[in-house]
Order: sequence, then structure tokens, then C-alpha cells
Amino acid sequence: MNEKIRLINDDGLRVDGRKPDELRPIKIEAGVLDNADGSAYVEWGNNKVIAAVYGPREVQPKYLQNSAKAIVQVNYNMAAFSGDDRIRPGPNRRATEISKITAEALENVILTNQFPRTSIDVFIEILEADAGTRCAGLTAASVAVADAGIPMIDLVPSCAAGKADDQVVLDVGKLEDNIGQADLPVAYVPRTGEIVLLQMDGHLTRDEFEKALNMAIEACKDIHALQQEALKSRYSPQKEGGDAE
Ligand code: UDP
Repeated sequence: MNEKIRLINDDGLRVDGRKPDELRPIKIEAGVLDNADGSAYVEWGNNKVIAAVYGPREVQPKYLQNSAKAIVQVNYNMAAFSGDDRIRPGPNRRATEISKITAEALENVILTNQFPRTSIDVFIEILEADAGTRCAGLTAASVAVADAGIPMIDLVPSCAAGKADDQVVLDVGKLEDNIGQADLPVAYVPRTGEIVLLQMDGHLTRDEFEKALNMAIEACKDIHALQQEALKSRYSPQKEGGDAE
């Protein structure tokens, strides 16, 4: 009964059957809400996330207004029914932190100086949570910003790597998050090569850190392609059917 739970088996596979460098299945859809200026839905393993963007619009509250650029305000929220236990509604320290780091990541790519005195409001609703919601949320949010037609340098794919049973693994799952050794969420801008989000929970050696970071960056490049595809299929849905000219 007290036996240690193994996160990697003798075949080198993880508890959900993935290889160490394998992502969970990811599905991205752009433009899922009629009432928002831009929106996106992301299913990432068992995570289900909706992002909605409004703006650029008048700043509320007004004293936050910046005469040189738009401000980016993010509200990350886990639905009461999104976890195993009921999540208490309303803001908490974790949601405030995730909202802040997501806004900072988006500010790095949105051309905010084109919209002085306005606010770009981003709402991230976690419908189902299964570890990695900040990465799924940011991935969805940047597609929603693009869907709103807001100019940006690039989309912002995000993915975590970490450590479980002494091995570096990509896209940390729920059990790995709970009893694993480290979690390293990363957001990467492919066009500039910039890292716009980097957090770490747990311990990694320098070599492990570098391996985990590179793994997460490579995964971000794959997720970036999925983000682009989601936008392409929203705005040019009939790519098949031979409409060559
Ligand atoms: N979680 C939860 N309730 C909470 C906070 C977290 O059920 O109040 C779960 C949820 O599945 C989440 C996971 O714990 O995805 C890991 O949370 P963490 O704070 O590491 O953020 P995330 O990995 O989702 O970005």
C-alpha cells in the first residue's frame, strides 16, 4: 500500500502511456464565440479552455489608461466544476498570478503602441483542468487575440516540461505535477526566439534545466503550427476542393 507510485515504467513510458518527449493530443479552434471580438477553444489532453478577447476598447477603470499604449488585462478563471473538487469561485492568489504572467507574455507580442489609451481584455475560462492550464490558456489567448484582428509580432505557444522519476519529461500531466520533481512552464515566440514566460516549481540540475527548456521550446514550435492552422481554417476554410485560382 505504501509502495511508491512509479511515473515511468520499465519500458520508459509514462503513466498515461506517453514517451518522455511526447505531448498530449492538442486541438485548437479559432472563433468559437459570436459575442467576443476574438476567441479560441483549446483541448489539450483533458484540459478544456476557452479564451475570449474584447478590444481595443475603453479602459475600465479609467485611471489605468496609458497615453502611450494599450494595456493588456487578463482574467484567468477556473470554473467551479473544472477540477476534481469544487473550485471556489472568484479570484485567488494563483489566478491573479496566472493572469499577470499571461498578460506580460501577451504584452511582448501585441503592438500595444498602436492603440494608446485603450484596453485589450482577455478572459481565460478553464472548463476542465488537468495540469498545464496556464500554458493551454496562453496558447488559446494568443489565438483569440489574433482572431480579434489585433496586430501582433507572432502567436505565443506555451508548454511545460518537467521532471518525473528522475527523467526530464515534456508536457507534465496531472499526476506528474502532483508527485513529480519539477514543472517548468515556458512560452516562446518563434519569430523572435524570445522566451516570454518562464516559471519553475521544484528542482532541476543545470543540465536538466537546459534539456527541459529545449524540449519545451521544440514543443512550442509544433503548437505554433497548430495555432496557425486553427486561424487558417477559420479564415480560409475551403482549402480543399481544387479552388486553385
Ligand atoms: N488544480 C485544481 N485546483 C486548484 C488549482 C489547481 O484542481 O485550485 C489542479 C488543476 O488540474 C491544475 C493542476 O492542479 O491544472 C496544476 O495546477 P498548477 O497550479 O500547477 O497550474 P497549471 O499546471 O494548471 O498551469
